[in-house]
Amino acid sequence: MTVAKKYDVALLGAGFGASLLAAILSKQGLKVCMIDRESHPRFSIGESSTPAADMILPRLCETYGLDELMPFCRFGSWRSSHPEIGCGCKRGFSYFWHGAGGEYQATENHQNEMLVAASSSRSVADTQWFRADVDHFVCDYAVRCGTDYFSQTNVVSISHQADFDWEVALSAQEKLSSIQTDFLVDATGPAAILLNHLQIEDETCRLKTNTSAVYSHFKEVPKAAEWLQNYRTNQTDFPYPVDDSAIHQVFNDGWLWQLRFENGVCSIGYVSNHDSDAPSKTDVSWDDLLKEKPVLKEILGSASVSHIPGKIYKTKRLQRLREQAAGRDWAALPFTAGFIYPLHSTGIAHTLLGVERLAAMFTRFNIISIEDELSSYSERTLNELRHIDHMVSLCYDNLHRFPRFRAACMIYFAAATTFEKTYLQGADGFLCAGDLAFQTILNEASMVMSASSNLSRSTERGPDPAVDAMRGLIEPYNHVGLFHPQKPNMYFHTAATKE
Ligand SMILES: Cc1cc2nc3c(=O)[nH]c(=O)nc-3n(C[C@H](O)[C@H](O)[C@H](O)COP(=O)(O)OP(=O)(O)OC[C@H]3O[C@@H](n4cnc5c(N)ncnc54)[C@H](O)[C@@H]3O)c2cc1C
Repeated sequence: MTVAKKYDVALLGAGFGASLLAAILSKQGLKVCMIDRESHPRFSIGESSTPAADMILPRLCETYGLDELMPFCRFGSWRSSHPEIGCGCKRGFSYFWHGAGGEYQATENHQNEMLVAASSSRSVADTQWFRADVDHFVCDYAVRCGTDYFSQTNVVSISHQADFDWEVALSAQEKLSSIQTDFLVDATGPAAILLNHLQIEDETCRLKTNTSAVYSHFKEVPKAAEWLQNYRTNQTDFPYPVDDSAIHQVFNDGWLWQLRFENGVCSIGYVSNHDSDAPSKTDVSWDDLLKEKPVLKEILGSASVSHIPGKIYKTKRLQRLREQAAGRDWAALPFTAGFIYPLHSTGIAHTLLGVERLAAMFTRFNIISIEDELSSYSERTLNELRHIDHMVSLCYDNLHRFPRFRAACMIYFAAATTFEKTYLQGADGFLCAGDLAFQTILNEASMVMSASSNLSRSTERGPDPAVDAMRGLIEPYNHVGLFHPQKPNMYFHTAATKE
């Protein structure tokens, strides 16, 4: 073994979250390294950004002088400065309901659709991140900022020593080495290798949301606009061209995501919803899904799996939560501490917020005096994951009743637009997680929904008292006309000003 190199901060994992934090800390003069068992470019899922993500990223860029990353905050600047780095245009969130019988029908009043604009033009739009390219670029950037990067390197052991803080033994191409560090960040996502080493309790059983997914990247996927034309959907009422959005095809028992990149690839995945106490399982295969839901064949046309990744992924339960997200001299990024979504695409923004909080701690305080800050980071991160679980599970509980599903989504949009409005003024809790009044509303919304859950309303046949109640409940947080669209279910102006 060679002599261990000493770092201020070592990050386990080198996804975009770890790479961004490493770049910031290196620029601040700290000695930083990243250790990843894979190397870039590599396939990764979690691609759809949001207005919140596109507010946090520019603030990080401004605060820490990350000029090279600034173009990635908007679709227009990304495409003009880095056309070689894959991305897609995201003007908003689109939902199409496939009804009780699994059949989508267009109606004059858009009763089976909802489109929520998040940006007013392509140039200021949010983005779909082609993660293989983005993560590669941000990792390279961290290295250019001074970070040491150990790729294709396995962590053999982690230990805490008396005379220095951590020792991490590494193995790469059958060679052993080790590093020492004052502080460890676990950014390995579901692998959570530091959390496992520390035996941090698993609290997943407390979560309400229980979903699994099958997904991949596809090529030659027909445009959704063409598919809708076959149903004579009036797309002239839409606030944006539908393919410039995160598309959700909503079924009774789950939903399909479609995210289109400019490079011809489309990210597609089906999320199956299970009872919250159902055992963790991998239930549906892609072939089963196509048999069960013939409309998916229409949506996919003659699409085939892209050569990267060249396969379809199948997951067990996606949700996970740990009891602790930080300790005296360690921290986990949000996606490592837990995961709820992907409904509402909160992951990238939450990761960026985690990076922002940790970066602020390291640059404001000495590493050895941040224990209290870390305890608050841990509490906030886990509270936010539980809060997202609450909002997301309300939507899943109502997949089979689209008016109520839409109403449940409005709670999320109220939280998201309030966060966007208040973030730059210093609000901290992600999506109103720390706001007690909002929590009360969310609890009441759950009660309203479950109290009247026996009502069978698979179609809109007159006003639903639960939907009316939800409209009233979110009023104090309704800054953008939620529940009051110009055209039924078409929201043109929910975006925070970005021009
Ligand atoms: C199905 C699905 C869909 C999602 N969709 C969205 C979405 O639409 N929008 C959104 O905002 N978020 C989404 N997310 C969440 C998003 O993926 C995460 O927020 C994001 O990937 C977090 O980035 P990260 O850098 O923290 O972790 P990751 O990108 O997961 O990086 C982890 C890194 O750790 C490395 N690693 C793993 N194990 C080890 C080990 N033992 N040793 C060393 N290195 C290791 C990996 O190679 C990887 O490079 C989705 C997540 C899932 C699972």
